[in-house]
Amino acid sequence: MRRKLAAGNWKMNGLSAALDELAAMGPAADGKAEVLICPPATLVAPAAALGLPLAIGGQDCHAKDAGAHTGDISAAMLKDAGATYVILGHSERRADHDEHDEHVREKCRAAWDAGLAAVVCVGETLSEREAQNTLDIIAGQLAGSLPDGATGHNLVVAYEPVWAIGTGKVPDVDQIGEVHDFIRARLEKRFGEGVGRSVRLLYGGSVKPGNAAEIFAVSNVDGALVGGASLRADDFLPIIEALN
Ligand code: PEP
Repeated sequence: MRRKLAAGNWKMNGLSAALDELAAMGPAADGKAEVLICPPATLVAPAAALGLPLAIGGQDCHAKDAGAHTGDISAAMLKDAGATYVILGHSERRADHDEHDEHVREKCRAAWDAGLAAVVCVGETLSEREAQNTLDIIAGQLAGSLPDGATGHNLVVAYEPVWAIGTGKVPDVDQIGEVHDFIRARLEKRFGEGVGRSVRLLYGGSVKPGNAAEIFAVSNVDGALVGGASLRADDFLPIIEALN
């Protein structure tokens, strides 16, 4: 049985006052679904120090443990600050920082070595969908971004169509179901049925309180990776509630 997961990606948003918002999410995080918030790196330690019944994650990590990499953060540092998860391969990282599947794979290995679970993001652009290449793109990203050694504990896969992120556009439930079923089948083939069935699959892209329940009813959707609507407790609480 896969535990549902409501994951929030705060991106480059959040000064220390945002910890009040996090504290307001705390009580709802004690339900059936697991709750994960990935604040900016500056807030990982203070967020974890609140001791709320929710997990804290980073939004990226370097592939190396330590060294001359100005501005980067290692998986070990995130772990040391209290994180238990890290988002990897988000489309904004792939686009803004020229991250490719092989980088994501190396980062994923580093995250696992440090004891973090990885939320690995995959998703097609609008032109790739319009060219009917969605499943090929997803297959390539999964094959390239995931190292050997995945388990239901160390890996979560987030399907995030690039064209749905921050746009208010959402694929229809058949499209979401098609991709999630496809990802599940690929994971079973690569890692074996037991592991493939235990990895949680999240949908991400313009999830809001008003569409969450419909999306969560789709087969193989085990929760959501939420950007904008995870910043405020008033928006995120009903999404968590829809999973409970
Ligand atoms: C995201 O950035 O991971 C995301 C899904 O953003 P939004 O929910 O704002 O579309």
